[in-house]
Amino acid sequence: MSLIVQKFGGTSVGGLDRIARAARHVKRAADAGHRIVVVVSAMAGETDRLVALVRAAGADYDSREHDAVVASGEQVTAGLMALRLQSMGLPARSFQGWQVPIVTDRGHGRARVLDVEPGNLAAAIDDGAIPVVAGFQGVTGEGRVTTLGRGGSDLSAVVLASALGAERCDVFTDVEGVFTCDPRLVAKAHKLDKITYEEMLELSSQGAKVLHTRSVATAMNRRVRLQVLSTFTGAPGTLVVDEDEIVEQQVVSGIAYSRDDAKITMVGLPDRPGVAAGLFGPLAEADINVDMIVQNISPDGELTDLTFTVAKGDLDRALEALDVSNATLGARRIEPDPHVVKVSVIGVGMRGHTGVAGRMFEALAGKGINIQLISTSEIKISVLIAEDYLELALRALHTAYGLDADD
Ligand code: ADP
Ligand code: ASP
Ligand code: MG
Repeated sequence: MSLIVQKFGGTSVGGLDRIARAARHVKRAADAGHRIVVVVSAMAGETDRLVALVRAAGADYDSREHDAVVASGEQVTAGLMALRLQSMGLPARSFQGWQVPIVTDRGHGRARVLDVEPGNLAAAIDDGAIPVVAGFQGVTGEGRVTTLGRGGSDLSAVVLASALGAERCDVFTDVEGVFTCDPRLVAKAHKLDKITYEEMLELSSQGAKVLHTRSVATAMNRRVRLQVLSTFTGAPGTLVVDEDEIVEQQVVSGIAYSRDDAKITMVGLPDRPGVAAGLFGPLAEADINVDMIVQNISPDGELTDLTFTVAKGDLDRALEALDVSNATLGARRIEPDPHVVKVSVIGVGMRGHTGVAGRMFEALAGKGINIQLISTSEIKISVLIAEDYLELALRALHTAYGLDADD
């Protein structure tokens, strides 16, 4: 008998009526003869509420207690889902992360999964039960509760699917699958029947939160078949597959955006060896990740401007570190700008095509949108623009690459 992992996101379990709807998907699959393991998120908004409570309790909180509080949202929905399944005649029982156990490192708030011991779940399944596992949480070797990072229930589902050798991992959410762009911002976005792991990985790491980035990386490495589909319609979803399974490859498959970046410009920085090292070394030591970097040509050979991005949440700390290093570097000014967004076009089809970037720049220029920074990789082009132009840019690019639903 095949085993399928079914994961339900926050909106899909955001109330008892929705839990009942999700439970009907479980019953349908069980009636079709599959063995099922269910993974649930907290009810929509619940994790935000718990995070806010922890913050309100004190700025210097202990990250282990942060996780103890924040993981509780999933505990509630796991129990409620098990109760609902029982009332439908299905023998279900809930599992918290530590009861599986899903063993993680001690990186509280963003813990990495080290091991999943499948014995307890396998025993429950052999007894004919449907395990309902609380997503987003694990346990350290020392027995402390951890969480896997926001959106991490997707990762719980993938690591369980891998450990149990599941035939597929179905991620049920509030949209019908992976779209060419966030359907909330681009009405003409359309659902993709299939997308490659590589493209999905870029889309999520560039901001498309429909799947958690590490869940895609893990599915890709461990050969887990992933499907994204809606809890609310019966429509087939999007399969995440290997490149050779895509019949008609587009040049650009999808467009992602992120509001999480902030820009910093060092104005009038002396143009001499060691400046970049003196700037980025201390940022790395402060555990601040730098993403896009542009250094301008120095017109007089003496001073130059250097612009880069960091995560918005790291901006204040980055500015503190830069103030210290600038005492020796000697830039004239440090200009922070949090009002930027990163827009990325992604497609494995880019590998064999020229002019893909040109089309992006033309489309943005046509709308009078200024590009502040550019970065590229083999299958992605990202630009940084002013946040006010986000929707206009997404729609213009969607049309320019022929992705509009009615094309
Ligand atoms: P869940 O709570 O089910 O995990 P998420 O909110 O994490 O759901 O992810 C689903 C959301 O992802 C959608 O509501 C949609 O707004 C957003 N999203 C962003 N980019 C895309 C995309 N390319 N395709 C589909 N959804 C996307
Ligand atoms: N409840 C967690 C969050 O909101 C995990 C998840 O939904 O995947 O981030
Ligand atoms: Mg999610």
